[in-house]
Amino acid sequence: MEVLNYINGQLSPSLSGLKMDNFNPGTGQVYGTLPYSDSQDIDLAYSAALKAFENWRISSPEFKFRILNRIADLIEENLEELAQAESIDNGKPISFSRTVDIPRAAANFRFFATAAMQFASESHAMPGAINYTLRLPLGVVGCISPWNLPLYLFTWKIAPALAAGNTVVAKPSELTPVTAFKLAALCIEAGLPPGVLNIVHGTGISCGESIVAHPGIKAISFTGGTITGQKIASIAGPMFKKLSLELGGKNPNIVFADADLELAVKESVRAAFSNQGQICLCGSRIWVHKSIFQTFVDRFIAQVSKKRISFPLDPQADIGALVSKNHMEKVLSYIDVALQEGGKIAFGGQKVLLAPPYNCGWYMQPTVILNLPHDCRTNQEEIFGPVVTIAPFEEENEVLTYANSTKYGLSATLWTKDLSKAHRMAESLECGVVWVNSWLLRDLRTPFGGMKDSGVGREGGWEVMRFFTEPKNVCIKY
Ligand code: NAD
Repeated sequence: MEVLNYINGQLSPSLSGLKMDNFNPGTGQVYGTLPYSDSQDIDLAYSAALKAFENWRISSPEFKFRILNRIADLIEENLEELAQAESIDNGKPISFSRTVDIPRAAANFRFFATAAMQFASESHAMPGAINYTLRLPLGVVGCISPWNLPLYLFTWKIAPALAAGNTVVAKPSELTPVTAFKLAALCIEAGLPPGVLNIVHGTGISCGESIVAHPGIKAISFTGGTITGQKIASIAGPMFKKLSLELGGKNPNIVFADADLELAVKESVRAAFSNQGQICLCGSRIWVHKSIFQTFVDRFIAQVSKKRISFPLDPQADIGALVSKNHMEKVLSYIDVALQEGGKIAFGGQKVLLAPPYNCGWYMQPTVILNLPHDCRTNQEEIFGPVVTIAPFEEENEVLTYANSTKYGLSATLWTKDLSKAHRMAESLECGVVWVNSWLLRDLRTPFGGMKDSGVGREGGWEVMRFFTEPKNVCIKY
């Protein structure tokens, strides 16, 4: 499988001809290549995007709607092929790609196709004058996305950028390039004019940084790690680019004594281990009221122990492979940290060896750790794998302090039947998204993003349409 760049409507290798290996996490083997693009490729993509901007920005909302909606249709028509490609490339169970990643990629295009038709601006009347606000597309914008939900997060940026009338230079993660490559073919089939979307593959340093540093690219929408976000901000900030940064998380999951215990256990297991714990929104720090602590832990472990760890295309797999060898080693190193900090491994903690041909794949057990305080490294640093801690609490204020004690502030989940408590907690939690009695229940109209080191700005709904446009006020005296 040779992945190619998509520039000016054409599929092509990098200008230098350099390539890099693409690994299959399920087998640990190289199964393809992708272009090792650099600043020359970004220059080419930028020129194509700038030229395409002339027509795309003034094309009618109906035209944009029809094309974006057609891309959504084509993603749905090719769901099975895309789901298999995503699972092979990322290591995630096929059931997850089929029901989460690919349907959501189609939904992103469908949702923002309608946004292109619905987007409107404000007017402010004053005595003797009226102000109206134009919301103009920015021009060429950059979209950079991570490997954990490859097509899902890639399209979450591209679709609104295009709907708002921008043209795009985009880069998926070099660890998971395949579905972005397949998307390029679908864009061609849908009739997206050449240059409106350009997809360039390569590493963060050679390809991603060239997008961020390009003087003509007006805005950067980035999802990835907090350290990468800092680097991007340090380059783009002095250039006064608009920046949307969706970064890491270390999310609390709090179970009060009055919770529906059956639901809380089931959904906390899902929040902990979906996608091998590699979702920025996973609830990795679980606190349970001490009156139900032991019952919760027993039931939680009973459910985790039934999870089937298997190769990604196994329809029965609950837990697949981690995305890379490096990442698996990083996650496993936190098990040692937890042990040094006095943690008790109540379940898992080991690498898993599957039968050939999967015996070199990057599998590990879902891991549950007890006995750790809120301020230890295991509970403060983002592990981004199938590892959770569970600890008891007594008072609402106490658990609020624990929850807010990390540098991150992405999401939190609460399990309680007491509405007043839920509202009180939701207001005081330092994070951008709070779920009560649910997890990962998403409405694409809502603001999505984090506080503190989890990022700057919000995606979703009108928020992202505003991000991808420049407001200009026009004041008319009459
Ligand atoms: P990463 O920061 O290593 O890479 C993300 C993307 O940035 C990749 O495409 C990479 O090639 C590119 N990149 C790397 N260095 C770059 C640079 N110097 N300049 C420009 N681009 C660069 O992150 P990752 O390991 O792919 O993803 C995991 C991280 O993403 C976790 O921290 C996770 O929490 C976070 N994440 C956040 C959200 C959110 O919505 N807040 C969603 C998913 C993942």
